[in-house]
Amino acid sequence: MAVQPKVLHYINGQFMEGAAGAYFDNINPFTNEPINEVAEGRKEDIDAAVRAAKEAFDHGPWRTMPVEKRLRYLFRIAELIETYADDIAYLEALDTGIPISQAKKQAARAAENFRFYAEMVKTRLVGEAYHVNGQFLNYTVYKPVGVAGLITPWNTPFMLETWKVAPALATGNTVVLKPAEWSPLTANKLAEIIDEAGLPRGVFNVVHGFGETAGAALVAHPDVRLISFTGETTTGMEIIRNSAATLKKTSMELGGKSPLIVFADADLERALDAAVWGMFSLNGERCTANSRLLLEQSIYDEFVARLKERVDRIVIGDPMNPATELGPLIHRDHWERVNRYIDIAKQEGADVYAPSVPTGLEKGNFVPPTLLLGCHNGMRVAQEEIFGPVMAVMSFADEEEAIRLANDVKYGLAAYVWTNDMKRGHRVAQAIESGMAWVNSPNVRDLRIPFGGTKYSGIGREGGHYSFDFYTEVQVVHVAVGDPPIPAFGKGEKPTALSAEQA
Ligand code: NAD
Repeated sequence: MAVQPKVLHYINGQFMEGAAGAYFDNINPFTNEPINEVAEGRKEDIDAAVRAAKEAFDHGPWRTMPVEKRLRYLFRIAELIETYADDIAYLEALDTGIPISQAKKQAARAAENFRFYAEMVKTRLVGEAYHVNGQFLNYTVYKPVGVAGLITPWNTPFMLETWKVAPALATGNTVVLKPAEWSPLTANKLAEIIDEAGLPRGVFNVVHGFGETAGAALVAHPDVRLISFTGETTTGMEIIRNSAATLKKTSMELGGKSPLIVFADADLERALDAAVWGMFSLNGERCTANSRLLLEQSIYDEFVARLKERVDRIVIGDPMNPATELGPLIHRDHWERVNRYIDIAKQEGADVYAPSVPTGLEKGNFVPPTLLLGCHNGMRVAQEEIFGPVMAVMSFADEEEAIRLANDVKYGLAAYVWTNDMKRGHRVAQAIESGMAWVNSPNVRDLRIPFGGTKYSGIGREGGHYSFDFYTEVQVVHVAVGDPPIPAFGKGEKPTALSAEQA
């Protein structure tokens, strides 16, 4: 498929270059050669996009049209995503290095995001009513908030963008999306799809560009009422600080360092499958990756031996090859960062085990699947998010120690527990400080459940009806159905004026 030479902003229903006419190169992670050029958004472009979105919110038909009609647009977007699923997967693999077989699954999930939120709005965006002492009826209504600023990362960008765009639009908001600068292609494809679906002008806008300029301008804009952010914890902190001046609602989906705990009584083969897939799929660039593997002492040697066998056989290669399991990392800068962590692991005394990258792949940002064996929680590599195919492995003596080690980290996104003692499975899952936990299961999500983290992994939950808390304002209307007493001020005798002396 031919890729457009220029990726433009999409503002008020039109593809356009930025006000300053500036562009930056978009680089192929497999070859490190430019793919194309991307319009570099600045404050003026954010201002134009927010103006269009505010106009569409205040005066357009989007939030006021019959909900059935609005939702038909969402179903149409889902259909079009399916129509273009192969193109989307191709663009995602080209842009990010995610193997094509995995990119296809992400595209399917993106279509599901739109269909799911259309159905949720119809069935679950419901208010409550309270009869109060026969005197009042109090009822709640959910209203769209206004212009939603959505800021997304470069890992699985299409899926994560649609995960925010779908509930924001379904609930009647208008949107300005600022995609990550390293992965602009599928955001542009989403704009094309939404354009083809015929949404009213200004309802959906995309401004490309860097975080410090385009992203920061979106966060600072007084007409943007909420910011949904997915990305690094430190960026999230800065966004919260910067959005304080305009008192925005923020939702924060941040980093992770999630434990996968294997007890000796677990189904070890399935635990192994889950540990390897959960760490090395999506090139290890996955927020919920089980980047800390905690093994009960008695199975440590056997499990590690089997892990090494698996890691040796992971197919590293061209992301466009359907057989590839592990592709190149998104960008040279990120490749350097991940390699720095592997060096730190060596300095910290971890035993680093990794197969070599096959010859012929030297131009790409390849890091082989890497095990950091013999880790302990005092090491940086056991505490900090590496966000590549690198797993810290450590042992524990008993349940109490497993829980303590699992929680001894600043993050709290996901956790995985493997044991055939189900009482222990529940107990350990509930004892771990994480937004989500899986017992004897790989990371499989139903869209109805809340997604998000605790501690440094985020604030708030998205997913299911939980997204409505964020993308809507709840208003209560108090109606008197009887004649409740009203204190009657000003109905008594007119007071005589006090003389200055009496006062
Ligand atoms: P990042 O924080 O560097 O960038 C994310 C987005 O924020 C980009 O669009 C970037 O341009 C923008 N940005 C950067 N500085 C900004 C600023 N000052 N103001 C406004 N916007 C700004 O993250 P990344 O490297 O793109 O993504 C990887 C990170 O995302 C990892 O930490 C990963 O764990 C996290 N992540 C979390 C989840 C989750 O749901 N919890 C999901 C996916 C990724």
